[in-house]
Amino acid sequence: MTCERCDGLMVSERIYDLQGLSSNPCIEGYRCLLCGDVVDATILEHRRRSTGAIKPLRSVTPRTSRLVAA
Ligand SMILES: [Zn+2]
Repeated sequence: MTCERCDGLMVSERIYDLQGLSSNPCIEGYRCLLCGDVVDATILEHRRRSTGAIKPLRSVTPRTSRLVAA
């Protein structure tokens, strides 16, 4: 698995949810060795669902703002 931010190596890691945002205080996730980005199963699930929407959005956003500005 590689990091979506920097393509670095991501390692499986047990994440403790100290902020209590998740119902499960200890979750399996991945941490990037290069940039330290952390993803858990919930984030991965969201990304899988929204990947098709997010990637086009990034390239479309500048055009959209130009259209709005014009
Ligand atoms: Zn990274």
